[in-house]
Amino acid sequence: MFIGSPYESECDLISPNRNLTPITTEVDEKLGMMIGGCILTDLASRYSTPLYVIDEATLRASCRAYKKALKKHYPSESLPIYASKANSSLALTSLMKSEGFGLDVVSEGELLTALRGGLPGERIWLHGNNKSEAELRLAYNNQVTVVVDNQHDLDRLAEIVPSGGKPARLMLRFTPGIECHTHEYIRTGHLDSKFGFDPDDLKEVLFQIKDSSWAVLNGIHAHIGSQIFELDPHRDLAKVMVDVYKMAMGIGHCIEDINVGGGLGIRYVESDDPPSIDSWVLTIAKSLTQACHEADLQLPRLICEPGRSLVATSGVTLYRLGSRKSIPGLRTYLSIDGGMSDNPRPITYQSLYTACLAHIPNGTRDQNVTIAGKHCESGDVLLKDFAIPKASSGDVLVVFSTGAYNSSMSSNYNRIPRPAAVLVNQGQADLVLRRERPEDLLKYDVLPERLIEVG
Ligand SMILES: *Cc1c(COP(=O)(O)O)cnc(C)c1O
Repeated sequence: MFIGSPYESECDLISPNRNLTPITTEVDEKLGMMIGGCILTDLASRYSTPLYVIDEATLRASCRAYKKALKKHYPSESLPIYASKANSSLALTSLMKSEGFGLDVVSEGELLTALRGGLPGERIWLHGNNKSEAELRLAYNNQVTVVVDNQHDLDRLAEIVPSGGKPARLMLRFTPGIECHTHEYIRTGHLDSKFGFDPDDLKEVLFQIKDSSWAVLNGIHAHIGSQIFELDPHRDLAKVMVDVYKMAMGIGHCIEDINVGGGLGIRYVESDDPPSIDSWVLTIAKSLTQACHEADLQLPRLICEPGRSLVATSGVTLYRLGSRKSIPGLRTYLSIDGGMSDNPRPITYQSLYTACLAHIPNGTRDQNVTIAGKHCESGDVLLKDFAIPKASSGDVLVVFSTGAYNSSMSSNYNRIPRPAAVLVNQGQADLVLRRERPEDLLKYDVLPERLIEVG
């Protein structure tokens, strides 16, 4: 049914973001579902649940699809960089490094993860609409490019760069004024956005940076949103960016990089139909090339920064089913041992997911249930009115496409420890994120002396 790649025959076009499951997904009559050669019920027993499982082959296939498409469709230099906010860890940093990717980061924590993961500063970009002085300092000291978002960034940086010091490397982010159809919380490209300079202010800012001795501007950036299924907004974006490129060159900047952001959507449920990585890259590459030719400008290095479409499909989450509540004529709730703390997307964005039982992934789905989390919120529902085979307490539930914006958006709500994560490949599973323990959650509590009752 939904397992594996529906597009396997077009092996040239392999694009994991169009699959519902990792590309290594197999089903064994006796052992149930396997990913990366590992039996999922075994992983659940060995590492406990909830458990994030990341399939290395899917991750690498996604990276290679971007690299290959850029090489094929863009007649000049290019660099894909991973938007690490989708899922940030040392292991993922290291994987991205080995695939020749750069990284974008939005905080001191993500920046530290990128640096400790072994990425050189020249391959890291720092984003953010309200960067702290500590973030800017760490970036500057490690030759990380700062994507300036507003005047505040410029003012802070001017103070940080010592006189006579190496100029800060800047990329300029602006709001391109492009509307696209995605959830309001994850749209960033329309003019009413907190991110980036307003187009009307660009000219002045470009002159200001040109006049400053402490900064070198060598790139421009825009990002129009996330989980986008249309290609037109990206076609339009490339054109708008070339207008800014032209203006910047006219003012005397030496723009080498154009960063078109990320945003390509993935398939969470059968009815989702995102474009392939290849067609997304083709659209941008073609539009950018054409716009540059028309403007009589050299082709810049094309940077794109996908997050979700690189990692989402590679990840699944394993839960164990627990209690059941049947309300006759209304609904049956099955509860899992996790929920909104390890996957806040359903309660935040009303996101939909696909799931199955690990031991009988192809079992007849003859029951309609609602899979609820264990948190004290009625809205903590992972899958509403979901068809599933007859399930019992203790069964392992597999939820697909959880590799992006799950671990990275997780919380300790209800003081529930965060899950572990394992990386699977060819029958081997490696722990990449240790499971938190309840004691860990007390680590930062301070009990003032005067509150300690005596006697
Ligand atoms: C979130 C984000 C991305 C990645 O978006 P995806 O939809 O996950 O590909 C890229 N660039 C910027 C600036 C972002 O904020």
